[in-house]
Amino acid sequence: MTNSTETVTSTIFDASVLEQQLQREDALLRGHFRLSSGLHSDTYVQCARYLRRPELAAAATAALAAQIQAAGLRPDVVVGPAMGGVVIGYELARQLGVPGIFTERDADGQMTLRRGFTIEPGEKVIIAEDVVTTGKSTLEVAKVLRSMGAEVLAVASLIDRTGGKGGLDFPHFALLPVVAATFAPESCPLCAAGVPVVKPGSRPEKAF
Ligand SMILES: [Zn+2]
Repeated sequence: MTNSTETVTSTIFDASVLEQQLQREDALLRGHFRLSSGLHSDTYVQCARYLRRPELAAAATAALAAQIQAAGLRPDVVVGPAMGGVVIGYELARQLGVPGIFTERDADGQMTLRRGFTIEPGEKVIIAEDVVTTGKSTLEVAKVLRSMGAEVLAVASLIDRTGGKGGLDFPHFALLPVVAATFAPESCPLCAAGVPVVKPGSRPEKAF
């Protein structure tokens, strides 16, 4: 039985293979980065760069689908929150043979179902994400779905960055745990060490 507060890491898919693939696609970078939040980090994750390769997306998602099936979970629908969950949500739905829909933010920033997507009371849902970082947005999606009467079975993600602190009250299937340190720029040890900071997707900048 899965402890709902723990991440279920795959024994089917070799995590080190996935890590190598992510690095080869520049989807997982180690170094010194300035994130869009303004924080600095030793790690940069951009799963879209991995998922742009359909054959990689299909293989990794197959491992998640296998975990879900091995756990005996039978969802009625997969929900992949936009943007990060759209591609993997589609692929997971395809492999599980169920519909795949997505949530998105409305003009007020509220996560919602649009485009005529609906959830019927009692429908069993699996949420699909590329990466779960804090768990906060996944819980937000779960809350919206539950408000419509959905039963949230689990979340499935390629990468788990929660460090087991996602605060999720349902199981989390993930293929690769990634530990990343983030720092305020003024207290960043990498800056203090004179390591040039990189804004991902651009050239290195001078160290602060
Ligand atoms: Zn720094």
